[in-house]
Amino acid sequence: MSDLRDLYQEQILEHSKAPRNFRELGTANHQAEGNNPLCGDRFTVYLQMDGDAIRDISFQGAGCAISKASASMMTQALKGKTRAEAEQIFERFHKLVTGKGANGEEEELGKLAVFSGVSEYPARVKCATLAWHTLEAAFEGQPEAVLPDED
Ligand code: ZN
Repeated sequence: MSDLRDLYQEQILEHSKAPRNFRELGTANHQAEGNNPLCGDRFTVYLQMDGDAIRDISFQGAGCAISKASASMMTQALKGKTRAEAEQIFERFHKLVTGKGANGEEEELGKLAVFSGVSEYPARVKCATLAWHTLEAAFEGQPEAVLPDED
């Protein structure tokens, strides 16, 4: 199990050092800002929606390794998905990082399962979910994400 932990840690660090889709999206038709004052993470998420489908997705900003890697892997996981699929993935991801899952989440989430260790550190849950809440705000046409207290 500790080998798996190390592997997960490595992937999170790798994404935080070289985040994917880390740019402003000129073709975006939705965008929102997210701010996690507890840690100082701050991101903008850009979406190019084609009807209900995510044609393109990117982000910019600054934050800790967990928040940045989560945003990076979120953009990879959601490109080409519909809004409904993206929301379902977030629901599973949220269960995984808060430790409220039924254990089936890791297989369903694929690469995003690297964040399973976050459930042992409740203070870092907001770091892991910031980009996702920001994505929700962008879907809703709201300029800024509101982070729920329970995260
Ligand atoms: Zn953070």
